[in-house]
Order: sequence, then C-alpha cells, then structure tokens
Amino acid sequence: MLPLENTSPAHICPYDQACSYLEQAAKELKLDQGILEVLSNPSKVITVSIPIKRDDGQVQILVGHRVQHSNILGPCKGGIRYHPAVTLREVSALAMLMTWKCALLGIPYGGAKGGIAIDPKRYSAGELERITRRFTSELMKDIGPNVDIPAPDMGTSAREMAWMMDTYSVNVGHAVPGMVTGKPISIGGSRGRDMATGRGVMIIVREALKDKGKSLEGVRVAIQGFGNVGGAAALLLHQAGAKVIAVSSGAGGVYSESGLDIPALKAYATGNRKSVVGFPEAKPISNSELLTLSCDVLIPAALENQITEENVNQVQAQIIAEAANGPVTLQANLSLESRGVTVLPDILANAGGVVVSYLEWVQGLSYVFWDEERVNREMEHLMVQAYRQVIEQSKKGQSSLRLASYSLGVGRVAQALTDRGLYP
Ligand code: GLU
Repeated sequence: MLPLENTSPAHICPYDQACSYLEQAAKELKLDQGILEVLSNPSKVITVSIPIKRDDGQVQILVGHRVQHSNILGPCKGGIRYHPAVTLREVSALAMLMTWKCALLGIPYGGAKGGIAIDPKRYSAGELERITRRFTSELMKDIGPNVDIPAPDMGTSAREMAWMMDTYSVNVGHAVPGMVTGKPISIGGSRGRDMATGRGVMIIVREALKDKGKSLEGVRVAIQGFGNVGGAAALLLHQAGAKVIAVSSGAGGVYSESGLDIPALKAYATGNRKSVVGFPEAKPISNSELLTLSCDVLIPAALENQITEENVNQVQAQIIAEAANGPVTLQANLSLESRGVTVLPDILANAGGVVVSYLEWVQGLSYVFWDEERVNREMEHLMVQAYRQVIEQSKKGQSSLRLASYSLGVGRVAQALTDRGLYP
C-alpha cells in the first residue's frame, strides 16, 4: 500500500528517508520481518475533496490528506499543515515520525499528520475558515478525542484549531475540547502550548550542552526560522543567557556577532509581516549562509532537507538541534555523524509541542486546567527523561542519537504490537 505520487528525488524523499531510519532501528532491534511490514505502512490513508467558494464567488476544489500511521498505543496524534509543498507522501512520512515521537516521549498516542497543499497567505481569513470547516467535516468519522486528535503545524495555528473544534462540536451537538489540541485557552487550550515546541528545543539543547560540561550561558546559536518554533526557541535561549547570533525568516536573515536583541527583533518582525529582514541593529545574512555560519549550536527550525550533501561540509556547528521535521537529509546525517557532530534528532528535539498537546488533552478530558508553571514542569520532566533514555540507549548500542531515538520509539510500538497480537 501507499504513498502514491513521488515527486522528490529518492535521496530526499521524506517517506523513503523515514523508512530507511525505521529499517536501521529494526535491524538494531532484530525486529521480526512481519512487524517491520506492519510498521512500514500507515494504518489509514484518507484523501478528501474540499470544495470551497472563494471570496470572488468562484468555486475551487482543494485536496486534503490525513494519514493515520498507527493507533497501537492510543489515539492517532499529529498536526495539520497548510503549505504548497504538501503531498500524500510527505504527510505519510510525517505521520510515521509522529508515531516514534509519541512512543519515545512515553505518551499514549500513535502518529498522524494531515495537510492541504495551499499557500495560506493567498487566502483570506474567511476562505481559510471555509476550507478548515469543510476539511473537518469531511474527516468527521475519522477524528475525535479517542480516535485521532489534530493540532497546529506549518501554516496553521490556534485559530484553525478553534474552527475545527467548533465544526466537530456543532456536528456532535456538544463541546468536545479533547478532539483537537493547540486551541485557544478560552475553549480549553493549555497554558504554555504556544511556546512548547521552542521550550522543548531549549531543554534538549541545554541537556546536550550539560553532557559536554557546558551551559547555555554565552553559547553562540544560529536559528533558521523565526516562526512559532524558531521564534520561541530564540526567545527562551536568549532569556537563558545564550547568545543568539543569527536568525532568519523566509525571505532572509539577520546576524550580529555580539548577539541579537531577541525581544526587540520579535517586536520588529511582528510589525514587519513576520519577517526579520531589515532589522536595523544587525547585518543581513541569507538563509543558506546562516546554516554554515561559525557557531556552537545550529537550530534548523523551518523546512525539511536544509542540510544536504551539498552544504554539509561547510556546516561548522558542533551541535545541531532539529527543531523542524527532517531538516538534515539521510546522507548529510551520515557525514555529520562521521565528523562527531551531535545531531539532536527531530523526534526528540521538537517533541515539546506534542508533549504539551498531550497535557492539553489530559486537561480537556478531565475538565481540570493547570497553571503554566505546572504545564512547564510536567513537560520538562518528560523531555529530560526521554533525553536521558536516548543517551543511555546510544551508549548501550554505540549508535547515534538518531538511531537510539528511533530504536526506543520503534521498540516500544513493536513491543505493544507483539503483546496485543494481530486481529483476527
Ligand atoms: N505539529 C506538531 C508536531 O509535529 C505538534 C503535533 C501535536 O501537537 O499533535 O510535533
């Protein structure tokens, strides 16, 4: 079964890369071939047609995907992205990564991902609302608090989650806060969710530095991306004493050897259509220059396939934290490993978002809501625990942190599958 159209070259196809990492983990775990077959394929692939009326009265048909990779450990969980590069293959790869991410963090979910191939900037708020509501309504039978729980991803935010929650709730006849996470606090969202992915990145970088006998104080960091993830990571790292020397947004970046004033840059980007370009207290730098800058920690927090065979030899950072999903390609990863660069893999480094999504879901199901301090404390505990387990696994198997993370995640799902057995 699966992922139909393949438009990317094989070496950077996200689904092929995800399967290759799965196969490496399966080898390390000496997994049974039948179990590997089950885990290599999504459990459900849904593609729907989304007809909407544009503001000018024209009807447009969009295509939406939702891929549920696994529901072995619990309901499926994962974001919905609105981005022109969305394909069924990409969404399938990301759904698989969510399965390993949730299992690695010890939260009771399987993975899912969804998306629509649109550039949300080209649609009005009203059009995006109609798209989101129709997409939700097409998925009605396949989502829900015990079935599959969407969340924000690239191009979506709390606003889209509120529309999803409302559409679902109106259709079932009562408010269902647990059907979606990353929603506004007014309708059952969790305190701390908006900064959660960035906070998780900061925690994992901090732990990795600690293992090298260093602290965040004065460490030189470059961050590609200044959106929900990169922006939050920049602010939290800055507050913790790190020197954020470069950040970028889609159109380009800014650089300052003495460290950027991140609160001032955030205020500037807010008033500059989310772009950091032109920030007066810094020099301009391109997105590709940022990746090869001399720095201690590099955080790609934007798109997939940013560090590739072409630029990997110029990368100077000794620690790379994958805040985006799949920013380092398979080949580039091999080269970094052989040079002894510490790559903190996406399924660990960017797990803070889904961890706080889980805490939001727990609060929604119990109708008891926590203060931010408690949310941050619980997520800190889960993130540090997972990091320590990965380090231990990597020492035991003499493997990279990526392989160790995959082995832990895949191993837990495989164990559950073995214990549950196959039906019938
Ligand atoms: N989209 C985020 C991720 O890829 C969050 C998913 C969630 O909270 O369910 O991890």
